[in-house]
Amino acid sequence: MRLLWILSYLAASLSAGDLYASTIIHAGRFLDGRGGDPQTEVSIVIDDGRITRIEKGYVAAKEGDRLIRLVDRTVLPGLMDMHTHLMSQHSKDSYTERFFMDQADYALRSTMYARTTLLAGFTTVRDLGDNGVNSVALRKAIDNGWTVGPRIFTSGKSLATTGGHADPTNALRGDFKRDPGPLEGVINGVDDARKAVRQRYKDGADLIKLTATGGVLSLAASGQNPQFSEEELQAIVATAKDYNMIVAVHAHGTEGIRRAVLAGVDSIEHGTFMTDETIELMKQKGTYWVPTIVAGEWVAEKAKEPGYFPEIVRPKAAAIGPVIRETFRKAYKAGVKIAFGTDSGVSPHGLNAREFELMVEEGMPALEAITAATQTAAKLLRIDDRLGTLEPKKIADVIAVEGNPLEDIRALRKVVFVMKEGVVFKEP
Ligand SMILES: [Zn+2]
Repeated sequence: MRLLWILSYLAASLSAGDLYASTIIHAGRFLDGRGGDPQTEVSIVIDDGRITRIEKGYVAAKEGDRLIRLVDRTVLPGLMDMHTHLMSQHSKDSYTERFFMDQADYALRSTMYARTTLLAGFTTVRDLGDNGVNSVALRKAIDNGWTVGPRIFTSGKSLATTGGHADPTNALRGDFKRDPGPLEGVINGVDDARKAVRQRYKDGADLIKLTATGGVLSLAASGQNPQFSEEELQAIVATAKDYNMIVAVHAHGTEGIRRAVLAGVDSIEHGTFMTDETIELMKQKGTYWVPTIVAGEWVAEKAKEPGYFPEIVRPKAAAIGPVIRETFRKAYKAGVKIAFGTDSGVSPHGLNAREFELMVEEGMPALEAITAATQTAAKLLRIDDRLGTLEPKKIADVIAVEGNPLEDIRALRKVVFVMKEGVVFKEP
């Protein structure tokens, strides 16, 4: 027994290449995620979850190597969605389910959405707002291999001001309407702002999400008014910096966008009513934009169904939803940094790739749309030293699709192969 233990210890101490076989992928068409032209007939060699070599031509497998032949497929990096909500998926019941679901129910249901997302080719996501810390638990479960899903960077609970887009007690009847504080992510003033950020850090969140303006789906009148003061935004950004957390900001109206960008946040989510001035400001400050066009499309469509949304939500969904397409066309042309994000959980999980089609329809070349979900997303998350592109030394997050997404972007819906950190989750 003891000898066996020593032998396995020795085996583990030697470099993997000496003892363990490699995984070799033969890629018929290859996109590295950096935005360059596609290559054909490329081999990716993977050891211990990392890419060790990328070579032109099909490298022969040695004895014991695992060969994955994707010679009639397009191989690209695992995709990254910068805006999801894995704890929920919108339906008619969304406004009442919280009275009937326990936290454990949310956490367990989210494992299903996480699996769907991974199998759709998204190996990394940001979770931008849940009802507490369930997304932290989901991240832990995935990291430990207790369940299957993408690599998660979560904000935990979104920050809001009283009555704001992420105040969990909006529109409840009197005896349910409490006065939530920083613990639950509701702040008023700079002291609350600091405390709420520190609380997210304590909760185990990776980043901060705040709702700088009204939103479509909350039970409140305005979808676009500014809801944080400049001082509150500055306090949040400064505190987040202390903890090395990036700040993602939900904003539709232009004044909320302007204040957030000036405060130095990392990304604007939605950005529906951004003007030429706010676009210019974002370019100056290097702020990323995560458009979530598919969420706009989805809510506008559902607003046509009588009774689907509560009456306070319906006019907002009808008015705000369609605007985002035009904004995308304008902001893309102007040269804002665009990172891919869908707000999935508003639209159904697993259909994330619909966003690529909308980006391309509104003027972005397919290759750039893919880069928004690979290299650019990794830069926004500050993980581009190890993820987002297929290059030697990077973590092996690799997917393959049927067809050529550069000719027909809908190919990104046909994900046939998914590898995360060298582990295969889906094969043709
Ligand atoms: Zn969202």
